[in-house]
Amino acid sequence: MKRIIAYLKSLLLLELFAGLWLTLKYLFRPKYTMRYPMEHIPQSVRFRGLHALRRYPNGEERCIACKLCEAVCPALAITIDSAPRPSDGQRRTTRYDIDLFKCIYCGFCEESCPVDSIVETNIYEYHFERRGENVVTKPQLLAIGDRYEKEIAAARAQDAAYR
Ligand code: SF4
Ligand code: SF4
Repeated sequence: MKRIIAYLKSLLLLELFAGLWLTLKYLFRPKYTMRYPMEHIPQSVRFRGLHALRRYPNGEERCIACKLCEAVCPALAITIDSAPRPSDGQRRTTRYDIDLFKCIYCGFCEESCPVDSIVETNIYEYHFERRGENVVTKPQLLAIGDRYEKEIAAARAQDAAYR
């Protein structure tokens, strides 16, 4: 019986007409095409874009060089070197590189960080023009963090209840 119904359906082109009806319905609905870059789609506060290293309000860098982010990174994109800071002996990174060509933007690094230091911002419009620029260094990451701290802190606060 099932085979007869399927045969009749294909004979009468019912599925084709159902598809055409759907197309006709959407023809008169509002269009969803965004005119990028003039228009941008709304972003989630959990959007995982360009990385940043954050500081505390007093200017102290948050990172304690525990290397959890480096260990958890599935793409081996993070490279950290560390040493005791000459002024007070506290361990700090001397090198913190992220290879953005290797990164798959999984967010594991920010999830693993115990001090909310490495984060992924909502920045997705960036490019590289020269070989090697894909490796972002610690000063660059700190500079991104400094520049976008307000937005980063607001996004973290909005998502705090779910973390
Ligand atoms: S987002 Fe994922 S792949 Fe990219 S650096 Fe962080 S842990 Fe590695
Ligand atoms: S960014 Fe966070 S997880 Fe990575 S080394 Fe620094 S403190 Fe540890």
